Amino acid sequence: MYTLGIDIGGTKIAGAVCDENDTIVSQWRVPTPTEPEEINDCIVEIYEEATKLHPEIPYIGISAAGNVKADRRTMSFSANIAKWIDYPLADRIEELLQGRAKVVVENDANCAGWGEYILGAGKGSKNMVMLTVGTGLGGAIVINGELYRGSFGMAAELGHLPMVSDGDFCGCGLRGCAERYTSGSALENFARAGMRRMPQKATRLLELCGGDVNALEGKMVSQAAAEGDELALYAFGKIGEWLGRTMAAIAAVLDPDVFVIGGGVVSVGNILLDPARYNYQRFLQASAYREHAQILPATAGGDAGMIGAADLARKELSKEQA
Ligand SMILES: [Zn+2]
Repeated sequence: MYTLGIDIGGTKIAGAVCDENDTIVSQWRVPTPTEPEEINDCIVEIYEEATKLHPEIPYIGISAAGNVKADRRTMSFSANIAKWIDYPLADRIEELLQGRAKVVVENDANCAGWGEYILGAGKGSKNMVMLTVGTGLGGAIVINGELYRGSFGMAAELGHLPMVSDGDFCGCGLRGCAERYTSGSALENFARAGMRRMPQKATRLLELCGGDVNALEGKMVSQAAAEGDELALYAFGKIGEWLGRTMAAIAAVLDPDVFVIGGGVVSVGNILLDPARYNYQRFLQASAYREHAQILPATAGGDAGMIGAADLARKELSKEQA
């Protein structure tokens, strides 16, 4: 049996037909439109293309950036798609497909985390927490082999753990959230602040951003850090420290055996993970008297979200039908 996984990203909608072993057998990509109806049409188009190759696709799993209600069908809010407020995404797609397929919607970080759990760095773990260090900080929690969604579908918003009293303003409207201190944006902020304070150490970063501090991007900091640049390493040290502190706070609640760190920023490997591991131990309660979680880079790749969405939909819907 085949399942269609759909990943609605900021720039691309990707779709993949997965078999029961979570292997992709065909895939498609189209640019993401801005209007909800146009997004629905794109998903239906991908489904039509997919069923030309594989006539029987009874389930669709959709990975979407934003808050998904506990019914796993409705978008309550999305920072990317303004009109996704209380939006019945699964209902719309099922209507358009006239009942040919059933739809499950899941938050994108949850899908990526589930992908890591079934075929990536979290495979075989008992309790796994994934942190995706992208523009913001995404989270996913797996407890005893099940994705943890909370009572209202709002669990695992780990980027908005309140870490600093009266701290930096966050896009969510609150202050001092973890993602203000550990994310791709935070990396840029720490690097820019360092460049302004210590211009004598900023030669390489200024070269990479063409002399304009505001034009500095995370990938330039990664490049300079890989070359051993002191200021770039300082910026990674800062987001690594906050990543470690954030994981220690999470461990106080969940005590997982594995943390998986994903997102573009983790491509620098131990430049990020070493300060994260060091500070995790530093801020962990009873650190010397307990077993420590492994802190591992994600390995499932960019399709993990799509595969995770397909797998979650198949498990959920086949259970319903049984
Ligand atoms: Zn926030």
